[in-house]
Amino acid sequence: MTIEDLRATVDDFRGMIAGKPDAGYALTNGDILDLLSELVTRRDADAVIRGIHDPVDALHLPSGRRMRVCAGCGADDGNWQPWPCPTIGALEAVNR
Ligand SMILES: [Zn+2]
Repeated sequence: MTIEDLRATVDDFRGMIAGKPDAGYALTNGDILDLLSELVTRRDADAVIRGIHDPVDALHLPSGRRMRVCAGCGADDGNWQPWPCPTIGALEAVNR
């Protein structure tokens, strides 16, 4: 499901529950809408972070070999950070 699909789902649900009483479940319509909105916000944040930490091809001068590095991360010595960088690794870990 894409982020656009999620936004459409939230908008659809917002329209479905507008003016309708809660059905008596433990979660109210507002609770469910809050959860869906939070999911969209997290997916947005994930996409922004992944965009910053996109992989790019670079040339490793000492070896003359091409390697994938992170467009958003650098090392303290001024070199590129190999991709996947620690940030992408952390995202992958929490999204398992
Ligand atoms: Zn990175």
